[in-house]
Amino acid sequence: MNTESNPKNVNRRSFIGLSGSFLAGWTLLPQSAISGFDRKRGKEGPVNSFLGNSALPGKRWWEKEPLRIVELEEGYEFGEKASLLDRLGANMEHLTTFKDTSPGTSFLYNHHLFTGKGVDLDSLAGYLNEVQKNIKVIIYYNVHAILFSYANEHPEWQQIKDDGNPVDQIYEIDSSFCINSPWREEVFDTLKKLSAYKIDGVFYDGPIFFSNTCYCDSCRKLFKEKYKKEIPLKTKMASTRSGAAWRELVEFQSDSIARFLKDSNDILKKVSPGCLFYMNGSTLGPTWPTGRDNRKIIRESDILGAEGGFLYGALTEPIYKPGAVAKLLEAQAGGKPTVIFNAAKQGPWAISMLAAGEINILYSQTITHQANVWLAVCDDPDAHGEEMEVIEKYNRFIRRNPEPFMNTVSAAKIALVWPQEGSNYYGGSSVPLTDFTKAMSAQKAGNLTGEFYGFYEALSRAHFPFDVIDEVSLQNDLEKYELIILPNTPCFSKDQIERIRNFVENGGNLISTFETSHYNEDGGKLTNFQLNDVFGIESSGDIFGPLNHDYVAVKEERRVSLKGIRQKLLYAPAYGMKIKTGPATIAPLFFCKPLPGSYAGIPDESVFPFLIENEFGKGKSVYFAGSFGDSLNKFQFPEYYRIVANLAADLSTQVIEVQNTPSSVEVSLRKKGNLIFLYLINFTSDMRRPIQQIITCTNLKIRVLISEKVKSVKTLWMEKKIEFTQRGNSVDFVLPAVDAYEVVEIKI
Ligand SMILES: [Zn+2]
Repeated sequence: MNTESNPKNVNRRSFIGLSGSFLAGWTLLPQSAISGFDRKRGKEGPVNSFLGNSALPGKRWWEKEPLRIVELEEGYEFGEKASLLDRLGANMEHLTTFKDTSPGTSFLYNHHLFTGKGVDLDSLAGYLNEVQKNIKVIIYYNVHAILFSYANEHPEWQQIKDDGNPVDQIYEIDSSFCINSPWREEVFDTLKKLSAYKIDGVFYDGPIFFSNTCYCDSCRKLFKEKYKKEIPLKTKMASTRSGAAWRELVEFQSDSIARFLKDSNDILKKVSPGCLFYMNGSTLGPTWPTGRDNRKIIRESDILGAEGGFLYGALTEPIYKPGAVAKLLEAQAGGKPTVIFNAAKQGPWAISMLAAGEINILYSQTITHQANVWLAVCDDPDAHGEEMEVIEKYNRFIRRNPEPFMNTVSAAKIALVWPQEGSNYYGGSSVPLTDFTKAMSAQKAGNLTGEFYGFYEALSRAHFPFDVIDEVSLQNDLEKYELIILPNTPCFSKDQIERIRNFVENGGNLISTFETSHYNEDGGKLTNFQLNDVFGIESSGDIFGPLNHDYVAVKEERRVSLKGIRQKLLYAPAYGMKIKTGPATIAPLFFCKPLPGSYAGIPDESVFPFLIENEFGKGKSVYFAGSFGDSLNKFQFPEYYRIVANLAADLSTQVIEVQNTPSSVEVSLRKKGNLIFLYLINFTSDMRRPIQQIITCTNLKIRVLISEKVKSVKTLWMEKKIEFTQRGNSVDFVLPAVDAYEVVEIKI
């Protein structure tokens, strides 16, 4: 069961944490090699210290220097707190031990989740006086979990489930109020009180709806006013997730959150324009359960943040999660800053400390992909010297070297699409019983998260820098990309389809899988792919599977995609689609007929192609007629990694090449003025999660394709000048050692 569909399972500050089960050689670079660099959305500009310095007109303090946010869950004497935050290298904190937000909302205080000294309105001025010497103080304001005793006093403010009962199981112990109810006025009154103090900002934890709310009188009334009809039942509609009525409900809830944010922000900014305001937004997953639409949220707030670094249970989620979320937020934030919320705990244990190796990775991924870092210390710091040292080390590094972590421009030639719209409007496909299907299955085919992370991991392990974008990003300038990957990206509007078609027609390349473009923007299934001409195929609409022990056969072995693969039978993905190919296509791989059992002999080839190459205009399309990414993610087939690496190398310019570097070192390349930054994130470890220790890699041979003359190369973490050789359009150097993290600065 997803947490998203069951409010009983909501973890603290992770509303949809486990969306993974959602159904559903060297290449020479041309002169224009890094030409895409300067055309990105981000504005370049000098970086300045914001603490006590407002030399940059037009920039708010939170846009001037990377934020090193630390949240201490414990309470301290004020002077002691100030020195601890300073020791940990913070320049900003979330004050979670503040007790006087509106009644019922002091989450940690009410549940005795911290000891030591708290802060209230009477002591706030004194606290600020002590701590603000070095630290920006942000009030932590929980607006989603409400103490029962207070909720019972105001039944008319509670969120109502679609069975008519109030929400009563938030973290098992709390209720929740509705932001459309008159409760909002109480919150606004509290904001007015807070704005009388010299606080630096307010952070909202929430607001959210739940997968079965809200049907309070206020929501019913507001929906009827806007849409002239009764609000439909969310639980019922969520099973199909398609159609205009579903869209109205999803939009109504996300608009409600945006309205609440706007009214809140107006109150704060009216008194103090320098007051930072932001909330806990959506990670990489569907937004319909909570109503948190990042693109709407960032229009009404200052920083876009999400819990990319909240890890739970057996840590089965991808190690790439903080980085994937950071990349997505960059695409959705429209040029505003982003932040990844990283909890140094092994959830669901609220009082715990995450292993040092994992904390390293939370930091390195977050900052590499240009997000500010927020780190919560969830146990007594004095009991965890090694882990605290990691926090100090990274914060000191960021403070000394702010340039690589702000206002840089990505040099990636590849964009991987996260189907944000698809996650809200695609319910997965049911698999009918056919000759090609062994058993009726209640399981739905088309897991979007698995499909996405399969490609994410394959690109990362093959050392390709890439961006993450969503469907809305397709409306931006796509010229900087040479390859766009659509991992089962089902839902598109006609306009978005036109953008993709133009991209390929003008020489861009495309990789897509499974039901990509088989649905309209509202989740309505179509009789054919919207991109059928680009793919060079026609759909029959039939899906088959699961293929649990079956194969695809190699038909054309001399294709780039299959370079280095010698066997004739490869693993089949779990689900396939029956399609017909056009005359000009090439299909190197075909599905085999399913076997009755895994020892049932050599399979016969079927008439259904699996991998289809097509030229369209000046560009190329490679389409996989099956759930390739999801099977890669689940089974880690070596040949699948090989196919992705072959295709990425063929369909885009390799801006960086490495040798003697394990696949567990992720690379990224970005530029800022005359500086090029190469980031190396080392995940190499002793084969267990949580990762205790990162293993140092040595003598990494690096080639970066740069047409400009290189003046110097140095490592910022190890602080070493690096010898290099430049020939033609490339610069070569050897890094003697990469510990957990490194940033190489190349000056041109
Ligand atoms: Zn409501």
